[in-house]
Amino acid sequence: MSISQLARSIAESPTLRLNEEARILREKGEPVIHLGIGEPKNKAPITAILSSAAKLSTGDIKYTPTDGTPSLKKAIIKYTEENYGKLVAPENVIVSDGAKQSLFNILFTLCNPQDEVIILAPYWVSYPEIVKMVYGIPVIVTPEDGSFHPRMEDIQRAVSSYTKAIIVNSPNNPSGIIYSEEFIRQIVEFCEQKGIYLILDDIYHKLVFDGKIPVPAYKFTNKDVESTKLIVVNGVAKLYGMTGFRVGWVIASRKLVEIMTNVQAQTTTCVSPVMQAAAEGALTGVQSIVESLRLTIQNNRDVVMQEMKTFNSIRITKPEGTFYCFPDFRAYSNNSVELSNILLKKALVVTVPGKEFGMEGFLRLSYSGSVKDVTEGIARMKWALDPTSPNEIYIGDRKMLRDWL
Ligand code: PLP
Repeated sequence: MSISQLARSIAESPTLRLNEEARILREKGEPVIHLGIGEPKNKAPITAILSSAAKLSTGDIKYTPTDGTPSLKKAIIKYTEENYGKLVAPENVIVSDGAKQSLFNILFTLCNPQDEVIILAPYWVSYPEIVKMVYGIPVIVTPEDGSFHPRMEDIQRAVSSYTKAIIVNSPNNPSGIIYSEEFIRQIVEFCEQKGIYLILDDIYHKLVFDGKIPVPAYKFTNKDVESTKLIVVNGVAKLYGMTGFRVGWVIASRKLVEIMTNVQAQTTTCVSPVMQAAAEGALTGVQSIVESLRLTIQNNRDVVMQEMKTFNSIRITKPEGTFYCFPDFRAYSNNSVELSNILLKKALVVTVPGKEFGMEGFLRLSYSGSVKDVTEGIARMKWALDPTSPNEIYIGDRKMLRDWL
């Protein structure tokens, strides 16, 4: 059996792998705490459930237009107008199986082999792999000042004649920071001027804390949606805690949407009409669920910050959005994969190694679960790593003694 070089070069999704490991351990009855996956615990909005159930009960479940049902696209257009102050046409919208497929469609549509795509570290694990899948070259830009905030000078240095696009994800997975308004202005102006596509992965744009509102990049361009280089990605996964429904979308020029539609037509045809109905139900229903989810997550963020305070030698940047934080564990180890394995083995806590996000020595912790999970997870991590913490702990109903520090 011979496997293509390209397929072989694509890394496994570390977050999905860890999810599976946690599931297997839980099935065996192990009291695992999952600080790995970014998935809120809330139930899907009732309007999403009723809308998809109504569609399902018609029994008339057929292909839809590839780019999405007209009624879902209408709801997305309204969302874009309300949240971005941008009026777009149905031809500027394409609905896909989650923001992940949206990103794949964009990059497949834009990249020639060897084209470069700039990715800002720390970055979401899938960006480099998707770029590789379309024969592009991921160019990673890491802030040289040791922060999580990208700097224009580092980006400008990485740009070449092959640069096709830059991906910006703010609020950012994994760091939880929001990029400054000034940076967004600069990068929009830079991309519009240089003719480089700016892909804005806005999947967390409503999961923000302390009254902060990320400024829509559209504010800084005077080009219309047909001529701008801005491409906006969004979806229902994080906004409503509807990760399993798999609905995302892209706002872009008609030309790009037309080609992405051809790409999608030849791969997945369309998103299931049942799931599109669910997304429409969520978007057109009462929006208080978004605020209540946001408040729950903000409270979890506060708990994390409180608990991490007493974690010796750990440096943590306060997240301004998302449900992730990205503490610096270099005081304990520079090898985040090893550290994450130790935490899983000794303390039954799932974390994601910073290496997967392009920053060694850090761990990504998700606080999308319950306060109890977050508190207990951090207590177990302290027990496993910090010699100044008490050396006995209960994990489930087992009393554990730390004898390795
Ligand atoms: N973009 C970022 C930054 C993410 O963190 C995720 C999911 O974790 C996605 C996109 C994918 O979203 P979806 O579940 O809609 O495919």
